[in-house]
Amino acid sequence: MSFRKTKLLSLLSLLLCMALTVTACSPAGTDAPETQPATTAAAGTEGAEQEMPAAEGAYTDGVYTGSGSGMHSNIEVSVTVEGGKITQIDILSQEETPGLSDPAFEQIPQAIIDAQSTDVDVVANATMTSEGIIAAVNAALEGGNAGDTVTAELTIEPDVIVVGAGMAGLCTTVRAAELGLNVLLLEASVRVGGCIHYAGGTISGAGFKIQEENGVEDTPEAFYEDIVALGGEGEFNEDLAWTHCENSGAAIDWLDEDIGVDFGDRTLVGGAYTAMDTLRVTRALGSYSMGAALGYLEPLEARLNEAIDAGNVQLMLNTTVTELIVEGDESKGVRCGDTEYLAPSVVLATGGYCYNEELLKMAGFENVISAAPQTSNGSGFYLAQAVGGVFDNMDKTVIFYGGGIPTDGFDMTYQANTSYPGRIYVDLDGNRVGNEDGNDINMWKNAAENKLYVIISGNMVDEETAFLRKSMAQSGFPLDNNGWDMLETMAAEGEYAFKADSLEELAELLGTENLVATVEQYNADAAAGEDSQFGRDPANMVALEEGPYYALLTVPYVWSGTSGGVRADGEGRLLREDGTAVEGLFLAGEILGPTNILGRINFGGINHSMCATWGMLAAEHAAERAEK
Ligand SMILES: Cc1cc2nc3c(=O)[nH]c(=O)nc-3n(C[C@H](O)[C@H](O)[C@H](O)COP(=O)(O)OP(=O)(O)OC[C@H]3O[C@@H](n4cnc5c(N)ncnc54)[C@H](O)[C@@H]3O)c2cc1C
Repeated sequence: MSFRKTKLLSLLSLLLCMALTVTACSPAGTDAPETQPATTAAAGTEGAEQEMPAAEGAYTDGVYTGSGSGMHSNIEVSVTVEGGKITQIDILSQEETPGLSDPAFEQIPQAIIDAQSTDVDVVANATMTSEGIIAAVNAALEGGNAGDTVTAELTIEPDVIVVGAGMAGLCTTVRAAELGLNVLLLEASVRVGGCIHYAGGTISGAGFKIQEENGVEDTPEAFYEDIVALGGEGEFNEDLAWTHCENSGAAIDWLDEDIGVDFGDRTLVGGAYTAMDTLRVTRALGSYSMGAALGYLEPLEARLNEAIDAGNVQLMLNTTVTELIVEGDESKGVRCGDTEYLAPSVVLATGGYCYNEELLKMAGFENVISAAPQTSNGSGFYLAQAVGGVFDNMDKTVIFYGGGIPTDGFDMTYQANTSYPGRIYVDLDGNRVGNEDGNDINMWKNAAENKLYVIISGNMVDEETAFLRKSMAQSGFPLDNNGWDMLETMAAEGEYAFKADSLEELAELLGTENLVATVEQYNADAAAGEDSQFGRDPANMVALEEGPYYALLTVPYVWSGTSGGVRADGEGRLLREDGTAVEGLFLAGEILGPTNILGRINFGGINHSMCATWGMLAAEHAAERAEK
């Protein structure tokens, strides 16, 4: 009997399982991290059927632990199963907001015990805490069911199997159902949506109605030319890029006119990241803010539910695909543990790898941590690899940030405020590495071990401003007392934060030979009003002249921004190293890798665009194969 300690262990074993192509991995209750803004809804999956077995006596006796992400913390639970039934759920650890989260802790465990299922309603105003508890219980029970088949009976004869119910899988499924296909939608986590629970609203393309409304003339050819000019010839997959340019406008129109996505003020914005001369980016709900992508989720989910009700789509949550079935050059279906599902077409829409350390490190990081959704686990990359798939552009730099504090292995829990007034950065030798004002992420990328200390002195301490925050992607949740208490706690532990009365003592604590000389030089420059090393604006230079001195150890982190992807041809079919395509095996969404379409550009909205464009195309190819 397996016994799970944490979600991470589960993920690692799942990935190992996949890498070894073992067929007996159990469905995973993948959970969601706490990066969702408090204002977002429960994503409409309440009451949706979950595949955790609810039959009496369905569980193997034992005590299991699991964890799931709540609003502010990892929630760890222990679940006791006696006589095949869940008899007790204990909360082992959590740091949710006292008071606000209490009803979830009071009600959810009992509701699960009463229902003998995690298919319970979340508690209003404590949605994310509720979901964290549910995810933790699922995670615990996943271990308890290892080896058993938790997959459901088919109620349809599928024309296409869609793996992953993020935006790409949803677009594929909804479009396929529109085309009259029967779709089996398999999703590893407890809910549909993947990254769009957290994402901003941008989406990009060429030749869509909102461009026309705003007087912007655009064509696929013009888009492609921009990609060549900005992305660099030879840096991307030409077939993929061209198909994307040709179809991305129609995909946005489909979301707009058919699905009914609310594009807010229907304006165009310069590309977030690299801008092109032609305006090609618009936004769900007219917003960049995280959570705006719910503007895609809600109408897509409504259409999904209609198709489920109509009997065209069967959705299985908590169901992890562990193997693709390919015979010769032909896709046949998938395996979930010991259960096989067969269909003429399979669409791999499993997302990117921002929560997969191994794949991220292919971009050359020695140290990198993640605040990305845990569903971005890169599992589809291993599934593809096992049937001959290859990866491209994995060495390109993903979008990342500096200032993550590596307190929890690969999971980012805390981040430094890299805009803290006056702070300097030094490397492991105690040398400054650049102009701190620019917050150039390459400072982290180029530093030895990708580690930099963020240093401040007593004269800079301002308790009104956070020096340390709880991770929430880029902006960070505030901590009590702006993180100063936590900083003291960490400094007392002396592993990631350090505090000393003098610079000499701090240098000794850090083992950084040059720190004292570096600060002396910096202080002299600050007094002289000129940064002799890196040209920092003297107005932002504050001499480090008074104890206590603090240092925070930081590394790069990601929260989205997969770069590379699994190789595909212009139809989105999986391509092998020898150039052969696997018939009937299509890729959609982030798994294709934005760099494979755009080369060196980071162009706003590309990811949502890849979901809609390639989801629609995959559905249409599946319809051709099903002759519908
Ligand atoms: C904070 C944040 C902000 C963002 N902002 C933007 C933005 O403004 N604009 C933009 O274009 N993009 C943005 N993105 C990126 C964009 O949201 C994602 O690239 C996109 O939603 C990915 O969709 P997907 O369907 O390809 O993958 P995902 O959303 O990752 O969905 C994949 C699904 O597959 C499931 N799955 C994985 N493996 C298996 C398996 N083996 N079996 C069954 N199921 C499996 C996962 O559980 C998951 O639900 C943002 C992302 C984040 C995290």
